[in-house]
Amino acid sequence: MEEKTRRFEDKGDKDQGGGERRGFQRRKGCRFCGEGPVIDYKDRFLLNNFVTERFKIVPRRISGCCAFHQRVLTTAIKRARHIAVLAYTSAQV
Ligand SMILES: [Zn+2]
Repeated sequence: MEEKTRRFEDKGDKDQGGGERRGFQRRKGCRFCGEGPVIDYKDRFLLNNFVTERFKIVPRRISGCCAFHQRVLTTAIKRARHIAVLAYTSAQV
């Protein structure tokens, strides 16, 4: 999982300085694996961490979730949207 997330940064600056990486990197590893919180589609404060300010679902390379939990999360966000816990969009028409 980690190899794929780094694919776009591998243009030469990998493992060289051992210093800071450019851009914003969230925590490594899935925060739901092991002792993590249960993903609940009614928990808007949890789900809010995984949508952008325009309420798009944050991709896995940024959220850092594993494939399984990203899928659970996506389902939870879509359910939350359906019951109006979460917005579909912030766009004003
Ligand atoms: Zn996980």
